[in-house]
Amino acid sequence: MSRLAEEFLIAAAQKSADLTHRATIKRNVDSYDTAVAKGKLRFADWEAARTYAARVKGEAVSNLAPLLEEFERKIVARGGHVYWAETADDARQYICDVARKNNVKTVVKSKSMVTEEIHLLPALEKLGIKVWETDLGELIVQLRNEPPYHIVTPAMHLTREQIRDLFQQKLPDDMNGESHQELVAAARRFLRRAFFAAEMGISGANFLVADAGMVAISTNEGNGRLTTSLPRVHVVVTGIEKVIPRLEDLGVLWPVLATSGTGQPITTYSTLIGGPRAEGEVDGPEEFHVVLLDNGRTEVLADEEQQELLRCIRCGACLNKCPVYRSVGGHAFNTTYPGPIGSALTPIVNGMKDWGHLSYACSLCTACDSVCPVKIKLSGHLLENRRKYVSEGDAKTSEKVGFSVFRWATAGPRRFALLGWFGRKITRAALAIGMSPHALGPLASWTKYRAMPDVPKDSFRALWEKNDGNF
Ligand code: SF4
Repeated sequence: MSRLAEEFLIAAAQKSADLTHRATIKRNVDSYDTAVAKGKLRFADWEAARTYAARVKGEAVSNLAPLLEEFERKIVARGGHVYWAETADDARQYICDVARKNNVKTVVKSKSMVTEEIHLLPALEKLGIKVWETDLGELIVQLRNEPPYHIVTPAMHLTREQIRDLFQQKLPDDMNGESHQELVAAARRFLRRAFFAAEMGISGANFLVADAGMVAISTNEGNGRLTTSLPRVHVVVTGIEKVIPRLEDLGVLWPVLATSGTGQPITTYSTLIGGPRAEGEVDGPEEFHVVLLDNGRTEVLADEEQQELLRCIRCGACLNKCPVYRSVGGHAFNTTYPGPIGSALTPIVNGMKDWGHLSYACSLCTACDSVCPVKIKLSGHLLENRRKYVSEGDAKTSEKVGFSVFRWATAGPRRFALLGWFGRKITRAALAIGMSPHALGPLASWTKYRAMPDVPKDSFRALWEKNDGNF
């Protein structure tokens, strides 16, 4: 087992035993569940909207290169710069160079998981540049010195009391009470100063619209607009999979994203940006850069069976529905993208040997498949990853032997009956000599947390025949 797999098991066991943590997550996720269910009712036909969204994103994934080139041409024609970054290193280097050339001392950043992916903040801070997160949840986790817990709601794991204590310690001059509204106001006072001081704003993108040559950004706090329009320089850093063909597609993608994420009809601020401040305009940056990040995405694209993972619009719905995520939380995964989408993508992008274990952080309940607004069959991808993990030789020997025996046994009814007979005999014998159910080989992980049921004398098939099908 890899070191990362061991760390995951330890962190997951700790978190799932932490009942306070589970209660916080349950409360927060339950409130999203209710809002999302209500939000879907606002659609005349939610399933038709999902089908449209899946088709548009599928079309984009199949035409990634020409669409990105079209987007680039339009941005450059308006005086913007587009940089194609093959790796996280490339992207970091380019952004640090832009900051250095512009003598930047302070950066404000709106929410972007891609900046987490490329570890941008430590690189900028190494240059002596202060970076402030401006999304409230991101600011909270930044002040706690920890990564986001969730791709849409980064501070989902915290209670109001924990945030109050944090602000009292870190933002004492801005505190003026402890209600939800007063805590938001404290962050707002603090961030206003950061916005006015910043020479550079960094944002992500929800979509890159090819035919319009526009970056589409959705936020709820208005921080995105301030980040992208107040500072002198604006850098967008985004994955290449965010491109979509047409402006009109936003008519469905924006509401589908907002509804799946938080249940809103559309996010409070929906912004389109096409370049630096043009002549005669009163606001907007003087310099505008878009960094198009590959960082393993073309490897996913090259895999015909799994390229549909690039359709993801990062709505977070699959995380909220996942029973594993709800038990072990976002930090146990130790990945930029946790939950089903992270478990499916990370092993492909970062290596099956180190990350293949995440493919097993799944009960195959398929809840994620049913909520994904772009119809990605996440459970199928997790199964496919398991297949690769085993066939590439990275699975445990016991697992390989176990599945070989299972394959042999399920190839015929007699073999299956023999395996059942053998399993019952061995288990009864082990229990008879006083072996603890917690030490029963492959059953140990199950019996560690659950009572061992009585081992039946006869198989189900024998009972069926004996009772003539009546139970
Ligand atoms: S895989 Fe689907 S449900 Fe999960 S974040 Fe992406 S779009 Fe949302």
